[in-house]
Amino acid sequence: MFRMKKIFLVLALVLGWISTQAQTPQTNLIPAPAVYSLRSGSVSGSKLACLHEKVRISEKALLRRFKGRKLADWQLKSAYWLEVGKKGVKIVAADEEGVFYARQTLKMMASLDSSVSCCTILDWPRLRYRGMMLDVSRHFQGKDFVMKQLEMMALLKMNRFHFHLVDNPGWRLQIDAYPSLTKLTAWRPQAFFWDWEKNEIGGPFVEEGTPGVYGGYFTKQDIAEILAFADERHIEVIPEIEMPGHNYETRAAYPELACSLPSGGKDPWELCPGKESTFEFLEKVLLEVFDMFPSRYIHIGGDEARKNNWKLCPDCQARMKSEGLERVEELQSYMIRRMERFAHEHGKRIIGWDEILQGGLAPDATVMSWHGTEAGLQAVREGHDVIFTPTHYYYLDYHQDPAQFRPVGRLVSLEKVYSFEPMVEGISEADAHHVLGVQGNLWTEHVQDAWHAEMMLYPRVFAIAETGWSQAEKKEWPDFERRASFLSDVARKWGYTVYPPFPQE
Ligand SMILES: [Zn+2]
Repeated sequence: MFRMKKIFLVLALVLGWISTQAQTPQTNLIPAPAVYSLRSGSVSGSKLACLHEKVRISEKALLRRFKGRKLADWQLKSAYWLEVGKKGVKIVAADEEGVFYARQTLKMMASLDSSVSCCTILDWPRLRYRGMMLDVSRHFQGKDFVMKQLEMMALLKMNRFHFHLVDNPGWRLQIDAYPSLTKLTAWRPQAFFWDWEKNEIGGPFVEEGTPGVYGGYFTKQDIAEILAFADERHIEVIPEIEMPGHNYETRAAYPELACSLPSGGKDPWELCPGKESTFEFLEKVLLEVFDMFPSRYIHIGGDEARKNNWKLCPDCQARMKSEGLERVEELQSYMIRRMERFAHEHGKRIIGWDEILQGGLAPDATVMSWHGTEAGLQAVREGHDVIFTPTHYYYLDYHQDPAQFRPVGRLVSLEKVYSFEPMVEGISEADAHHVLGVQGNLWTEHVQDAWHAEMMLYPRVFAIAETGWSQAEKKEWPDFERRASFLSDVARKWGYTVYPPFPQE
């Protein structure tokens, strides 16, 4: 009898083992969690939100669940342990941020599945910067649109919103010291960017209030509301104020900021780094920006300055002489270094596009590597922090399908976006901490309407979120494609436009 019992016990154990093996733990979550284990039973998705929730915020308790696994402090802050049982949900985290991410996981589970399997999840981010950039200069989108995207970012555990607020076709931020920036250069007669900008020279601006005018800007009150909304979702908003290029609009409002050339020179975009008044302008603008945005970072642009005017401008030439600069590239570098010093005096660090490497990089600058990954690699080797946002993977104005509405640029399909590996070849383990993370950029030259902007973002942003959060070994294209289609359906139900925007036959 005893022997029979023993045989049954062994048989039960073997069958149990076989059934857990057959039941490959599968989750529909994006980003894929680090450790996901199934428990017996399930809960209906609609009930999940009403279940009793027990939260414990304790670093010690969380570390016990990590069983000796080493995490960086910033990872620990976002990490969480989550148990979904039939009668309740338990969360353990070291910080409120971890609790927030556990709840985002629950929210996504409840939305994706009518029946949620009971499970345990141990999860933490791979990279600390998981970003998205929105260009509101070429075409303007207001605060409701911005908040809607922040909501989706939070669900995807993304934590940096790069706000491209100013550029040639429109200044979109209230600055009290320089009211013409928004009274004049936030408004233009033509709504569609390409109708306004012809032959790569900007078009006209018209005054606020002119009938039929296109444009808009964010007041300080709008910004405060956006920041409060982002803060509740553990998203840092990083403002960008472009310099020295991409300033056609600034020069339209304040022509004295251009180089002193009889015909305006060849470059209609640049500020004059020779004139002291240019620095006065930038510093006053930045002081108001610093007051509005609590982020430690200020993005100063730094890209695509052509520098032809500087070769001819007497003020620029005088500056080069007095500073002992031989090339105009060094003049750009002079400007960026000077603005970095100013930012430091106010407790800020600068981020710039990878052109800020030209002529020598400011000592503490973070580089956004957009010309492929070479610039990022160079910056990392020189000891700088880098955010990867390479055009051929992460430029979300590029088309995802040749058949889509207004296809431009290269083909950047969902699979292509998903395939980017941020630890690019050549980055040593010792330098890996300089890779802060990844960011998708939505430039809006061709993207006028809100639905179009969302169609360019989704589902590709899902892929960027997973690359930023999920551990490298968790990434697998066929499985991601499956999960992305589930999440796309959910996002559509919530009112987002996801590509393809209409059901495919
Ligand atoms: Zn000049």
